Order: sequence, then structure tokens, then C-alpha cells
Amino acid sequence: MESISIFDMLKIGVGPSSSHTLGPWRAAERWIGELREKGSFGDVTHIEVNLYGSLSLTGKGHATDIALMLGLIGADPEFFPIGDIQPTIANIRKNKILLFGKEIPIPFDPDSDIIFHKKFLPFHANGMVFEAAVSSGKKIRETYYSIGGGFVIKKERINAKRNLKAFHSFPFPVEKGAELLDYCKHQNCCISEMVLQNERSLRSDTEIDMELRRIWDTMLESMFLGCHTQGMLPGGLKVHRRAYDMHLQLMEKASYSTPGEWLEAIRKTEVKFRQIFKWVSCFALGVNEVNAALGRVVTSPTNGSAGVVPAVLMYYLVIENHKADFEHIKKFLLVAGEIGSIFKKGATISAAMGGCQAEIGVSSAMAAGALTELLGGTPGQVLMAAEIAMEHHLGLTCDPIGGLVQIPCIERNSMGAIKAINAAELALDSNPDNAKISLDKVVNTMWETAKDMSSKYKETSEGGLAVGVYLSDC
Ligand code: SF4
Repeated sequence: MESISIFDMLKIGVGPSSSHTLGPWRAAERWIGELREKGSFGDVTHIEVNLYGSLSLTGKGHATDIALMLGLIGADPEFFPIGDIQPTIANIRKNKILLFGKEIPIPFDPDSDIIFHKKFLPFHANGMVFEAAVSSGKKIRETYYSIGGGFVIKKERINAKRNLKAFHSFPFPVEKGAELLDYCKHQNCCISEMVLQNERSLRSDTEIDMELRRIWDTMLESMFLGCHTQGMLPGGLKVHRRAYDMHLQLMEKASYSTPGEWLEAIRKTEVKFRQIFKWVSCFALGVNEVNAALGRVVTSPTNGSAGVVPAVLMYYLVIENHKADFEHIKKFLLVAGEIGSIFKKGATISAAMGGCQAEIGVSSAMAAGALTELLGGTPGQVLMAAEIAMEHHLGLTCDPIGGLVQIPCIERNSMGAIKAINAAELALDSNPDNAKISLDKVVNTMWETAKDMSSKYKETSEGGLAVGVYLSDC
């Protein structure tokens, strides 16, 4: 049984994909760490990375090669300046040398040292093998799997011990929604309070607040940047950035210069039903346009679905409650993270395992539950909202055109956000005791659906829109 902190579910990273960008980046960092621990790092003379399955099939479009190179030079995805990415990669490509782990200059040609294999490794669809030649002539190999949301494991799950320890250290270990409800009932508390008690067993209150503020700041900045950046997205699909134009239409004359001032300015705009829809879409599109342009977003629970949670939280802040402050943001993120972790434990948050229901479906469920708590819903209604949101994403396939996280991905975030708001409203007007389907049932159904789904629809770009629409049509 895994213990998953909400900070595992909400991570700051670089787009466009948590499994294909952030995961391989983290895997490269981890491999370097392990080489150092074993004392082999200083002996490395050559490196090669082999990518398998979905990682290989959509790796180019998802910038897996770029992420690997950044991981191999020891860059941190949370802090590496976005503006330095392209020049750094161009430099490696031109000079064919990489500063391994920030220390050792090693000959590296991405065209021949990153190898894309069509076949799948048996353990997971996103496999990668790192190989180092050392001065003695020996070769050292290590295999990692990117299992979605930036999580990386080895087959032996060597991190299971650490997770198990952390799980037992939680005062209220949760695997299923029913346990969460039970705890809330016995403790007479809401879900965010219970989640906070678990987090306190890992971090101090000051650290929790600091991290949550950093997460929210990154979400707000990604919405702000997305709404103020025009032009075309990279990758060759000629996708026009839409958040900029929508924002221009929606924003009345206002002066602001920071993301915080922008938020206040939106609160002063007059909104009717259509404008509410458009604002929510605008926030979601903005984040995912930033993500598609290899920008910094919060993986929540993945990068492809990074727009849903911030868009719904922003909806609450600028439309529902103008007096909302950090305490509301904190509650929202605590609940969203916990719901995401229930899906990760009981099903998957990897599109390579479960299609888009595992990304947009889970993010929509996270946002729906979190919004329901802020709107005064009971713990039962929170879980009901999460269930409703997922119920109407079941079977959603992953079929990104050209392997890029753009079509249908960007728009899909706006749909996930709107469904989340609707799910919250439906749950708030319902008695969860009368619900026919529990959250745990829908988690299980999602997993069964994932297992039945053809691999064509699991982040391979071998089915659906990815083959139905020709690149020349775009
Ligand atoms: S279709 Fe959905 S799951 Fe697939 S890459 Fe796009 S957002 Fe992610």
C-alpha cells in the first residue's frame, strides 16, 4: 500500500507531459543519484538512453528527448529557467557534448544516443533503459518506468519501502473513498482537515503553507502567462493560442501588472452565464497552451490535464467568492490532491495505462470534489461530485494528433473544468446516501475500462484523432 502526499499529486514541473517529459527528466536525475551512491558516477565515459512503448511512440511530440537531456545535465524541472531550455538543448545538439550531472563533459549525440524502440517492455508502457559505459570497459544498465504524473519507479519498486513507511506514519491512512468518509465521520471534520492532519505527519505547518503557496503561485502565473501570450504553439500543427484572444474579449479596461492584480481586476468584471463559461475555458486553455510550449505548470495530476484544477479554483476565487483568500486555496488543493491519490492507488493517472480518462477524468474529479467542499458540501457530497465528474469521462481515449499535447488536449481541459463545476452543483443538490454509484465503484470501473482499452488509445497516437486527422489538414 502506497502513501501518497498531496505534494506528490501536485508538482511543479515543465510541460508538455508528466509521464513523457517530467517522468523521464526525473528518471535521469535519479539514475545519476544512484550512480553517485554506487561510486560509479566519476567513471562514466559514455551514456545512452533507450525508450520503449508509448514513451517512444509519442516521445518526440512530448519532448521526451529534451527532458532526458535536461535531466542528464542535472537541471531541476522546478527551477530551471524556461528561457534557457532551447539554448541549452541547441548547444548540446551543436557541440555533441553534455555536462553529465553538472560535472563531467561527455560526448552525446541525441540522434544516436537516444534510441526510440517501437516495442513495449512487459512491466509498463513507458519504459526506459539508461546505459553507461565506464572507464573499465564495463556497461551499467538501469531500467525505469514513468507511470504517470511524474512518478518514476523501477520494476522492483525499490521506493516501496519508503512509501510504506510514510503510509504507516499517516495518522489516517486512506486507500479508498469509503475510508476517507469514515475518518471524517468519526473525527467530525471535513476532508481538507483530515488530509491536513496526514500531511502534518510529514511536514510542519509552515512548510505545508509555503509549498501550497508556491503551487498556487505557479498555477496563477501559468494562467496569467497563457492569457497574455499570443501566437502559434511549437510543434508544426500550427495551433493558434486562443486564451489570449478570449482574454482580450473578456477583460474590460483594467490596469494591472502582476498576476495578483490581474486576479483582483477579473473580480471586478461583470459576468453572466456565457462569460463564466468563457472565463473558465480561458483559464484552462491558458495553462495548457503554456504547457504545450514547454512552459512551467503544476502537474495536477498530469501535465496534459494541468489546466483543470487551476481553472476551477480560479472560478471559485473570481466568480464565486470575492473574499476568498489563501485558506480557501489551501482547502481546495488539499482536497484535490487527496482525490487524485485515491485514483492513483485504485486505478491509474497514466494515459499510457488508461487513456485520457486517467488524465482529464481524474483532474475533473479532483476539481469537482475540491470545489464542492469550498461551496459548503459535506464529505459525502465531495466524494459524490468526484464520482460524477469521473463517471462522465469513463472510456475517454488518449489520441493526441502528431503525438503533441495540443489537439485534443488543450480544449479537453476546458471541458474537464466545466464538467467539474457542473458535477459539484449536482452533488450539492443531492443526498449522497441515495447515490447508486460510489466513488470507489467508479475508480474500479475506470481501472477495468483502462484494462479493456486498446493500446491504440493509450498515448501511442496510433488510433482515434491521431490517425483520423492528417497533419497536412492541420
Ligand atoms: S489526449 Fe488526454 S491523456 Fe492524451 S495526451 Fe492529451 S490530455 Fe493527455
